[in-house]
Amino acid sequence: MNPVQTILACVAFGIIMTLLGLEVMTHALHEDVKWPFWAFAVICPAGITAAISIVLVGQVETNRQMARQLLETQSELIELANHDHLTGVLNRAAFYREAAGYGDEAPACVLLADIDHFKAINDEHGHAAGDSALRLVASTLSAALRPDDLLGRVGGEEFAILLTGLPFGLGMSIAERARGAIDALDFKSPDGDPIALSISVGVAPYRAGWSLDNALAQADAAMYGAKRSGRNRVQAAG
Ligand code: GH3
Ligand code: MG
Ligand code: MG
Repeated sequence: MNPVQTILACVAFGIIMTLLGLEVMTHALHEDVKWPFWAFAVICPAGITAAISIVLVGQVETNRQMARQLLETQSELIELANHDHLTGVLNRAAFYREAAGYGDEAPACVLLADIDHFKAINDEHGHAAGDSALRLVASTLSAALRPDDLLGRVGGEEFAILLTGLPFGLGMSIAERARGAIDALDFKSPDGDPIALSISVGVAPYRAGWSLDNALAQADAAMYGAKRSGRNRVQAAG
């Protein structure tokens, strides 16, 4: 029922109840009621119920709008609480929570990707260029993943990835594809100077029920191995 229909229904109900009451009284008291009383029995409840129902329907509409706004604000807050404000990917806490909740039977892989020589980008081109590089790396990594995979920024220039439901060899291929996509980026400083971007990636196997901390520690050790081997490369754990 829309607001106008609700108001009309209330008015009709008020009039009918008053007329019924008057009818019962005239029969019970064997009185003859003249037409102005009948007219009064229509106009008076119509006016009162119209006024009251307009106020109430207005309040119901206001409450509905407030409930809608509250739900929107709530989902915005949840979004803010789970995502990194700079890159838009999951933040550290949300990544750990969601990755630890991985419950599929199928094997998975965890990746740790760290941007190479990132401090030099900040030092040579400024913090804003560093921030742009972080955003670009995050969106490039995200584009290299499948919809069910998880991507989180777990440190300043460090990203963690959960590749769901695939064997280790395929995880290595996806890591290699992501590394290649970053390496192929044509990133420029605000002054137009080209800036080389690359990542070093460590990959470790992971399964539902395993310790996520342990898998990430293995991926971290592999990532540092990739750094030691010259950076801009993918290394398997173990
Ligand atoms: P490596 O190849 O060994 O990883 O060297 P690196 O320079 O990337 O690593 P290092 O840990 O020395 O430097 C990381 C830098 O990341 C230092 C810090 O200022 C920068 N950083 C961390 N968070 C942010 C951020 O949100 N924005 C910007 N612009 N820089 C950040
Ligand atoms: Mg780094
Ligand atoms: Mg680092």
